[in-house]
Amino acid sequence: MSNIADNLNKVQARVATALENSSNRPNSVQILAVSKKQTTDAIRELAALDMHDFGENYLQDALPKLEQLADLDLYWHFIGHIQTNKTRQVAQHFDWVHSVDRLKIARRLNDQRPDELAPLNVCVQVNISEEESKDGVAPNAAEQLAREVAELPRLKLRGLMAIPRASDDYEQQVQAFTELKSLFDRLNTDGLQLDTLSMGMSHDLEAAIAAGATMLRVGQALFGPRPA
Ligand SMILES: *Cc1c(COP(=O)(O)O)cnc(C)c1O
Repeated sequence: MSNIADNLNKVQARVATALENSSNRPNSVQILAVSKKQTTDAIRELAALDMHDFGENYLQDALPKLEQLADLDLYWHFIGHIQTNKTRQVAQHFDWVHSVDRLKIARRLNDQRPDELAPLNVCVQVNISEEESKDGVAPNAAEQLAREVAELPRLKLRGLMAIPRASDDYEQQVQAFTELKSLFDRLNTDGLQLDTLSMGMSHDLEAAIAAGATMLRVGQALFGPRPA
């Protein structure tokens, strides 16, 4: 078996075990394959194993790959920091954006989403650990931003995304993810219809599942170490 097929089996086994161990069990968890810095050959290999959703962080690296893989039926997720001058290309080429953290970016994506495409699926990125260095809206400003995004007709607000402060401690990981889950539940109670909680990466996907993730963003555990 190739490394990638083997890696996929291992990730799926980790997900299955975490779901079994979780009382907070979501019905299903989707795996988003984070392909930043990975080759189109590696992406093709995963696509042949029935993975259809891929995540990229860097627009300039992503665009040629999207073009080279246009023969495949893939969904592309933009998960990186969005600069104002990049919104048009993101709106034109991607199916999802996980990293909307200010209204100005949301408005531009809305205005620039081509008419012939379905509304762009978006998650509001929350700086759940309130780190100065991190992108994301502050937790106490997330509801207002989510409400404003939900009003934009060419965007479809799907949920929330976060990258908590890195920790090797499982309980700390669960705690941070649980804060995002609580915010997600509150917004749904307040009438927003969110179905996506994008949290958990290669090293902390078990904790994310325990806290109720619906979409994991997994890079290295699938593709192996990222080339520098
Ligand atoms: C790189 C990245 C991931 C994947 O990280 P891995 O450790 O490779 O699983 C997930 N989300 C975001 C936003 C990333 O930038």
